[in-house]
This record gives sequence, structure tokens and C-alpha cells, in this order.
Amino acid sequence: MNEYLVLVVEDDKPIRSLITTTLKMNEYKYITASKGNEAIMLSASHKPDIIILDLGLPDIDGVEVIEQIRKWSDVPIIIVSARSEDRDKIIALDKGADDYLTKPFSVDELLARLRVIQRRLMRTENVSVTEYINGKLRIDYVSGCVYLNDEELHLTPIEYKLLCLLAKNVGKVLTHKYIIQSVWGTPDDNSEASLRVFMATLRKKLDDSDQALIQTHIGIGYRMMRL
Ligand code: CA
Repeated sequence: MNEYLVLVVEDDKPIRSLITTTLKMNEYKYITASKGNEAIMLSASHKPDIIILDLGLPDIDGVEVIEQIRKWSDVPIIIVSARSEDRDKIIALDKGADDYLTKPFSVDELLARLRVIQRRLMRTENVSVTEYINGKLRIDYVSGCVYLNDEELHLTPIEYKLLCLLAKNVGKVLTHKYIIQSVWGTPDDNSEASLRVFMATLRKKLDDSDQALIQTHIGIGYRMMRL
């Protein structure tokens, strides 16, 4: 039996049963809600390990559900949205959602997203504050040095900041806005273009042309994968 409890929030019955059937077949425990307020109450009373949250709910908006839950919990939230809700998706990620699925999605996509979250949960259970290791990448936070296959990389201060931000949030999709605010502070008109340039050089130094380590989410942002 899978140890994770998943809260499924979805008012659309066929989609809800697709999700719960998938969870059941893969031995996840789950509870369901079809409304936003119910989801907030269930996440307080049952403390799920992962939440799958539809953005378009009949009572309150999914974004509002995230805002409420984030007041007391860091539980990973995967949002489910229709293509027409692309803007809401970015707002939801800015408010602290971890990942997203766009309808229609496949069972395999859903399971892949759950695995990313689970790897992230496992990581936070044994954190080391002085060092970060992910595949061939190693960040020594104490000396501020970064190594790839034990060879030191020469990163600029911005590249280092960018890499540490992605590493700290491994498995989580970070929006352009969030990254720019974290690395540069106040955004300006050229921020997104600068971010793209910095990301390209960082990726080159990390030998990550295939985006195995850092994924690009076009129009949304970036995510570091747990290798
Ligand atoms: Ca809906």
C-alpha cells in the first residue's frame, strides 16, 4: 500500500473518477471534494500529503483554495486546468501551487507528476543544509562552489543565485515572475529576456542541453528535476 494520502478536488465527475481510478490502481489512498470550501476543510482535518486541485470549481475559485491552504500548509498542490484557464494557471503557480496538468491529460502524465512530487517529499525528509546533490551536480552552500562530476564550475553571482533557487525548489515549477523577483528583486521590461539569457548560459555550463535537469515550461517558467 502506498503511504501517501491524496486529496482530489474536482467537480467534473468523469475527470474525478479518472483520477481516483488511477490512484486506486496505483495503491494511493485518497479522499475527494467537489467544492473549494470542502477542499479547504478536508485539507485541514485530514492533512493530505498531496492535493490535486481543479481550478474551476462551483463555489470558490481554485486560486482562492490555494491561498487559504498556504496560510497553514506547504502540502504539494498539483493544479488541473483547462487550456482556456492558462492565465489562472500562472496565477495559481505564483500563489504557491507546485505543478500543473492541462486537460485533457493522460493517466501516465498524472502518475509522472505524482512521482515528481513524491521524490520532492522524500528529499525534504532528509535535508542537508550545507550541501545539495542532484545527479552529477553538487552545490556546496558553505563555500558557494558548484561542481559538475566533481569539476568546479565557474558561475556568475546571478547564475549561482538562479541555480540555488531552482535547487531549493526541486520538482516545483517556478514562474518567470517568481524567479525574477527572487533573483533580481523588482522586474522591468527586459527581465524575462535577461532570464532567458542567463538560463541559456547556466544550462550550457551545466551541460544540460537536453533539459534533463532544468525543464523549460514555455510561457510559464522553469523547473529543476530530481535526477
Ligand atoms: Ca471544474
